[in-house]
Amino acid sequence: MAKTGDICTFCGRGSRDVSLLINGISGAICDECAQQAYDIVKEQMPSKSDSAFSRMKKQELPKPEDIKAFLDQYVIGQDDAKRRLSVSVYNHYKRLLQKVTTDDVEIEKSNIIMVGATGTGKTLLARTIAKMLHVPFTIVDATVLTEAGYVGEDIESILTRLLQAADYDVDEAQRGIVFIDEIDKIARKSDNPSITRDVSGEGVQQGLLKLLEGSVVNVPPQGGRKHPEQKMIPVDTKNILFICGGAFDGIEKKIAQRLNTRVVGYASLRNTAGVDRDNLLQYVTPTDLKSFGLIPEIIGRLPILTYLNPLDRKTLRSILTEPKNSIIKQYMKLFEMDDIKLSFDESVYEYIVDKALEFKLGARGLRSIVEGIMTDAMYSMPSTNEKTLHVTIDYAEEKFEKSDVRRLQIA
Ligand code: ADP
Repeated sequence: MAKTGDICTFCGRGSRDVSLLINGISGAICDECAQQAYDIVKEQMPSKSDSAFSRMKKQELPKPEDIKAFLDQYVIGQDDAKRRLSVSVYNHYKRLLQKVTTDDVEIEKSNIIMVGATGTGKTLLARTIAKMLHVPFTIVDATVLTEAGYVGEDIESILTRLLQAADYDVDEAQRGIVFIDEIDKIARKSDNPSITRDVSGEGVQQGLLKLLEGSVVNVPPQGGRKHPEQKMIPVDTKNILFICGGAFDGIEKKIAQRLNTRVVGYASLRNTAGVDRDNLLQYVTPTDLKSFGLIPEIIGRLPILTYLNPLDRKTLRSILTEPKNSIIKQYMKLFEMDDIKLSFDESVYEYIVDKALEFKLGARGLRSIVEGIMTDAMYSMPSTNEKTLHVTIDYAEEKFEKSDVRRLQIA
């Protein structure tokens, strides 16, 4: 009688008749049976994407107020953007769950465009939404995109990134969120005050159209791990939510012009009297985007338009300590991992905000400034037995002055 290890327990073939025989404790399996077993498991078990989607179906979708409350934990202020985003994300997912009905009412996609100075939280908002929804999320920079045939990345590469974020699960990717940053840099030349933008801007905008409106796009997997043999992967963008963001430097002028030209009669004069000239972005309309150089077709496919407020002193101060993973909380955690209790004088926070404002570094600079203050301690304290570090204003000033301030200013 053949011994265990000589024959496949599943098909009974001997080791000579198969390429590989894998031995277990009381049996063996040949390569072919192992492959078959794998196929059966794959077929019977719900795939990752099935479970993700059915979870979304079963569990009640988060309501706009829930989405906003979640955003509030991570993003300070920006209420208008948060409310707009919450509603459109909610509608987007309602649309995904919509059963095919006979009444022919088809809910259209609610792609979003956010206008706001750099470092005010556009990316953070999009990232936080993706975190909440557990869907694949990717950030792409519009400046690297070019029309096919030019040096740069093809527009389809946006979807390659999304596929990678979804671990090449096409179904998952087809429900993902794409954040296209610096959309303003592909504005049409003639209407754009900037001279450094991509000359083929309009072509890129045309290319983006088909992605935004929803169509099946052939995506090159580009070094795809899971599909080395496949040349192109068809991806349907119908249910992908696109969130675009841009600083639109100079758009305030267009807004001001528009507001002023309205001032013809007495009634409109009265209307513009209450205009908040310090924050004109709040009055942005699709017309302003058009004067800035976005083509009307693109604007039409980004129906939700919202703005971000500039970050004032109070907001910067809150950003430092309040969000769930605020910069200060992150440093406290780092020290805690070395059993060191880190604390700060309130005046140190004010000092950090002062420096961020002074160097016009915005929220992005807060981190570099804290890093400048903490580097010495992070370097030396782990080798000592000290268990507390209280940062006073004198300590902060001394360390910050020693740090490479000029580098921060350039950053
Ligand atoms: P943008 O995309 O508008 O250029 P980001 O979202 O990348 O800016 O913001 C840069 C960093 O600044 C974020 O990582 C975050 O730490 C911080 N930040 C900016 N705005 C806010 C905000 N409103 N609330 C909390 N943190 C913020």
